[in-house]
Amino acid sequence: MDHVISGVAKFQKDVYPTKKETFQKLANGQNPEVLFITCADSRIDPNLVTQTDPGELFICRNAGNIVPPHSNQTGGMTASIEFAVAALGVTHIVVCGHTDCGAMKGALNPEKLDSLPHVKEWLGHCRCASEVVKEKHGELTADQLDELTKENVLQQMQHLRTHPAVAAKLATDQVQLHGWVYNIESGTVLCHNPETGVFEEMEQAYAERKLVAAK
Ligand SMILES: [Zn+2]
Repeated sequence: MDHVISGVAKFQKDVYPTKKETFQKLANGQNPEVLFITCADSRIDPNLVTQTDPGELFICRNAGNIVPPHSNQTGGMTASIEFAVAALGVTHIVVCGHTDCGAMKGALNPEKLDSLPHVKEWLGHCRCASEVVKEKHGELTADQLDELTKENVLQQMQHLRTHPAVAAKLATDQVQLHGWVYNIESGTVLCHNPETGVFEEMEQAYAERKLVAAK
């Protein structure tokens, strides 16, 4: 923990002065273009990977980059999504999974999660994804981790569409959904191409895709 505490001092001394204007501009409000939903995994740094600054990404993180489908029960994700879309007016929502995801490994072997009842229940939100992969292969094995990770991103994008604020903005082309998988080892990002239906290299996936303009 020492280096985390000394890091704050280092930030105030070395980093803050170089970005003082940005922080002062942000002091009284935010206007992010993107809601970025990713895993809580310590190896992912959304701002580093996207080379963005404070104020640019509204970030929601949890184990497995999961978006529970909308229900009348309020949860942290539901409230954050509603706020980002309806109040802040983000124009893009990225669901970003990643390689070697512990949550996805858990979804592959739910029977091993008996001592983690909340994780087990939370991962119930990935069950469609694991059932899809299982149906395609006849069984679920460790070899299907990458496929499950991609399928989970698609499933969570589907869940996003059930949230009224998102559905309303999607229906009027005011928001766009993006499905990504970040590769920790290579630093690359695969992106779902809605035209081809598969995950492709970022450049290829966005070559012909028109992006909704920021407000
Ligand atoms: Zn993860």
